Amino acid sequence: MNFSTEIIERRRKRYERERRTTRQDHPRASGVGECAREIYHQITDWNMKPRHEAPLLQRFQRGKDVENIVIRELIADGWEVTESQLALEIKEEYKGKPLVICTGHIDFDLLDPGSDEAVVVDCKSLHPSVFGRINDAKQFLEMDSFWRKYAYQVPLYMYAKSRQHGMYLIDDCLGHWKCLPLDLDDWLDPCEDALRRCREAKIATIEGEPPGYCKNPKACRECWCRTVGICHPPLYEPNPIKDLGESGISEILDVVESLTDDGKRYERLVKDVKETVKALGPGRFVCGHWAIVCEKKSNGVFVTWKAIKQEVGT
Ligand code: SF4
Repeated sequence: MNFSTEIIERRRKRYERERRTTRQDHPRASGVGECAREIYHQITDWNMKPRHEAPLLQRFQRGKDVENIVIRELIADGWEVTESQLALEIKEEYKGKPLVICTGHIDFDLLDPGSDEAVVVDCKSLHPSVFGRINDAKQFLEMDSFWRKYAYQVPLYMYAKSRQHGMYLIDDCLGHWKCLPLDLDDWLDPCEDALRRCREAKIATIEGEPPGYCKNPKACRECWCRTVGICHPPLYEPNPIKDLGESGISEILDVVESLTDDGKRYERLVKDVKETVKALGPGRFVCGHWAIVCEKKSNGVFVTWKAIKQEVGT
């Protein structure tokens, strides 16, 4: 191995050694998305959670580094930074006993000298392409599940610390910043939703019965609980696979597959299949031992297929 390869490889191995999943006993503010069942599984099946690969751990490390740079720069500019990495718990009561429904770590508090109020700050380093699109914290609520988890963090911290104001300080990893302020009065609904999901998940771990399935199929499709096989949401697929049964497409595809020296016939049959499937509209289909996908893209409608080992539904 040469010198330059060794540099990259040694670093990768160091991160590989750090790959681990840690035990989780309570809902974590950073892990609260839109599904209480996922929060339940974060606790009951923490050891099933896929371990992050080295490249993602490297990205996380860069995020931690950015946070330290941000704090250093804020202090250099004369701002008062306090309570860095302060642990918090949101406690309630259940069946006469204390119940921790959420834990977390606040990145830091920043004193607003105008109001003499401490503002809860969470520092996020974002890819420049995402950074460019975000100008308001509420935009996190409209993004994919990964980003939506960001949206609940600061409101939960504000609630836990009884603070009226919070802020996401975002950095694009290129040294540019944006400050996205939050006023708890504008975030009461998302905050209450997040608290409800934490409460539901935590109680479910005590009662031994998982909360119901998420209503958002898109969240399920992206969810680790589904991919590792511990949750089987019936609604995760918004476009269920349709069985084309006796349409004859399976037989045509068998012929297409076997044709090796009749180009014209091949083209005609392929055209027939594509036109038949396009007429059904975008979707996923099975026919015999063929899986067929019809996709609508900006440059047209495309039909593809591949052989599957077993027929679906038999
Ligand atoms: S797969 Fe869907 S229902 Fe199951 S835990 Fe994930 S988001 Fe919730």
